[in-house]
Amino acid sequence: MDEEIQVPVSLPLDDDGFLRRECSACEEEFKWFSHAEGDADAEPASQYFCPLCGVPADLDSWWTPAQLEYGFGSAGGAIDQAMKDALTDAFKGIKGLKFEHNSSFSLDIETPDPLIEPNDMVIVEPPCHPNEPTKVPETSTDCVFCLICGSQFAA
Ligand SMILES: [Zn+2]
Ligand SMILES: [Zn+2]
Repeated sequence: MDEEIQVPVSLPLDDDGFLRRECSACEEEFKWFSHAEGDADAEPASQYFCPLCGVPADLDSWWTPAQLEYGFGSAGGAIDQAMKDALTDAFKGIKGLKFEHNSSFSLDIETPDPLIEPNDMVIVEPPCHPNEPTKVPETSTDCVFCLICGSQFAA
């Protein structure tokens, strides 16, 4: 297959516009504010610091297991459809042979149910980067690290 399959995966934000994330170092969950595209307030960063343990990681290494599962599931559905389309095309040119969609050609990957984002955790704003608030569990507000620069603060 030489065509690239683009799979739009939209992850739900909570009512305050925060996206759930998981740190691979401490395996704790927190949320960061999801800036709209082109938002001048969004701080350019090449890595983020975990607000809970302060360990930095690349921008795309913060998926929660549920988000990964959802992403793979969505991709699976798209690949499944692309396979069917490719097969239909392949059979179209052959005279006298009729190809019909048949479930036996399906990879049988179910598109997952949409994720639900509960409104848990509390908003904390780092004094050094108030434009990049995070949400952490209520019990963790005594010691929070700035997402952008890793500075420690108490909310
Ligand atoms: Zn962490
Ligand atoms: Zn900062």
